[in-house]
Amino acid sequence: MRLRWSARDPRLVFVMLLVCAAVPARAEWITRVTDGIMGTRITVELWSDDADKGNAAIDAVLDQMRHVDATMSTYKPSSEVSQVNAHAAEGPMRISQELFDLLEKAHEYSVITDGAFDITYASVGYLYDFRKHVHPNEQQIAKALPAVNYEHVILDRATQTVRFSQPGVRIDLGGIAKGHAVDLGIEALQARGITHAYVSAGGDSRIIGDRFGKPWMVGVRDPTKGEGSVISRIPLVDAAISTSGDYERYFEENGQRYHHIIDPHTGRSASKVRSATVIGPNATRTDGLSKTAFVLGPERAMEVYNRLDDIDAIIVKLDGTVIHSKGMQPAAR
Ligand code: ADP
Ligand code: MG
Repeated sequence: MRLRWSARDPRLVFVMLLVCAAVPARAEWITRVTDGIMGTRITVELWSDDADKGNAAIDAVLDQMRHVDATMSTYKPSSEVSQVNAHAAEGPMRISQELFDLLEKAHEYSVITDGAFDITYASVGYLYDFRKHVHPNEQQIAKALPAVNYEHVILDRATQTVRFSQPGVRIDLGGIAKGHAVDLGIEALQARGITHAYVSAGGDSRIIGDRFGKPWMVGVRDPTKGEGSVISRIPLVDAAISTSGDYERYFEENGQRYHHIIDPHTGRSASKVRSATVIGPNATRTDGLSKTAFVLGPERAMEVYNRLDDIDAIIVKLDGTVIHSKGMQPAAR
């Protein structure tokens, strides 16, 4: 029997519906740039075979960023970190698994970097306000400095608690939280089946997959020149990259530059390099390690980076010269 089709034929409508369901809405690269979460710019770019699903995946990344902001900002008195600062000197405090795990990582990075990375920098750091051009005087620094030491943060995995060993200790996760948020964003994308994406929050970025056979190219800003100028473009696939610079949040007074990376040993801005870029497997780790060079100086920091098998680094020294880690040197012939 020959079937005769008409536009009203319910069988045809059914077949057309099947075809529509099988053909994706639209496969494309989707990019979204959002300002304001965690006080920084968030960029998400991804490939999706369905524009609606792609946009929903970006929404999920931004939800993760808002979650980290709400949990870890020290500007928000209600955040879990602010609560820890208010009460952990009184005795052990039970905290979320997420915060506990991140505090453990912060401790690990302090050990790896000989104490250059230290979230208790905030015991002095809270006396600075870079937006309002406020900095502590000698006496204030001397008084607050004994509270700076990552060993003052006592973690107990069995009870999932944190305690400060003495009053005056404060923590701030500003040196690791953006990287953590980027990693959570990437996990949210992976959970939705996204296999090609770029997520960045300020100076911390992570990439999954490539761009159809080509790597993603990530520019490393030239700290000696204005925004938009780069010292190099790094080809990356399945990697994270973080850059710290003394140009991010600073002011100058009497010829001295006060900026947002603090040397835990002195309580003052750490100024031994202009910028440090760290490449590694995830953004929590690259974020945690990118401040080291400011405190230890280029040579000692490069020793630390070269000791770590999963880390590469580019440091711009004070005189503007650029040095690279072992893994970035041209292969010996
Ligand atoms: P961004 O905030 O743009 O990601 P960085 O990754 O360079 O910039 O982190 C700078 C932040 O790190 C500072 O604003 C501060 O919150 C925190 N920080 C400053 N000094 C230290 C330090 N010695 N150890 C750990 N964190 C620090
Ligand atoms: Mg960072």
